[in-house]
Amino acid sequence: MYCEICGVPLGITRGNLWHDDGTISGRYPPHIMGTFFDVDELNYLFHSLSEFMQFDIGDIVASGKYHDTREYMGALVEKIKEASGGKLPPEEELYRMMLTPTRIWGLAEVGFESIEPGRMVVSVKDPYSIPLLRGDVAGVADVVTGRENEAVWEGDEREGKMFVAPAEGPSKLSRLADEGGHYGMRHEVGELECERCASCGAPKEVSGLFKWDGESCRIEERFSGRRYCFNNTQGITAVLETLAEELEENIEQRMIAMSREYSRALYEDVAGKPESNGGRGSIDPELQLGSFACRGWGRVMEMSMQDDEWVVAVENPHNNIMLSGRIWGLAEASSGLDLSVSDRTADGKTLRLQLEPL
Ligand SMILES: [Zn+2]
Repeated sequence: MYCEICGVPLGITRGNLWHDDGTISGRYPPHIMGTFFDVDELNYLFHSLSEFMQFDIGDIVASGKYHDTREYMGALVEKIKEASGGKLPPEEELYRMMLTPTRIWGLAEVGFESIEPGRMVVSVKDPYSIPLLRGDVAGVADVVTGRENEAVWEGDEREGKMFVAPAEGPSKLSRLADEGGHYGMRHEVGELECERCASCGAPKEVSGLFKWDGESCRIEERFSGRRYCFNNTQGITAVLETLAEELEENIEQRMIAMSREYSRALYEDVAGKPESNGGRGSIDPELQLGSFACRGWGRVMEMSMQDDEWVVAVENPHNNIMLSGRIWGLAEASSGLDLSVSDRTADGKTLRLQLEPL
């Protein structure tokens, strides 16, 4: 299950390609894009948004993830069907195929308790996020059963059970319209040129960045000790887009500021606050930005820091909101300065951020 040399799960290495434009895509149809996400960063963002809005945004998060999961699992099942001459395995087997890999993706430990017509119960340990997992499981259930489902969580943040049953009336998760058509295209870009593991072929930097714990579902970033997950890129973006649509105007700016807060605290926490280091942070921003490609965060095309003015441009950013906040906080932690965004352009292909001292 895991490479004997580098420790990366073979399911991740064999199933994906790292590209030289800073993306990771599925090796086989429907070629789903993947990204290594900082789980604490996502949870910090959702928690901060709930506090700011003064209500629990969990249902909106679950709804955004549900729609996307339904779409990408739907695309996956179509490919399974094609490959097997139109026949699909029985429900239980399909559920196992789709939910068992959640462990190596760092999402949760899932155990099947019962799969009956119209009802499924899974036991869950260490979910990466309860609302995201609710969306994932309900979306998978839709694809397997061919009707709309709801996933209800009973438990605390560490352990519990997910009850999946057909939605009664209009599903709470499905109040937003489907857009469709994100999945299925091959990513026609060359592979990342880098040193590879001699055994499994994963970029060596991936095992340098992360370690997988074979006993639990935990992917840990070596540098920070923070939990990560490997997730489809579009899924998280769909969640943040849903939040931006459902919450108030200009919430995007607020979300960027929340990610910046998380990022600055993270780098200061790991590398020490600049005050204790002669005014400058001991974090190496070039090294951090250079690791973006292996994380599937995009490729850094430009980076300059002159007179404390920062310019960073990233091609194929995995998400404009989270990446803006991440770079902003990184620049602050390494410079020891409070910075403001003097210019930000995000056209879908490239993110360019200009920061200057306040
Ligand atoms: Zn390997």
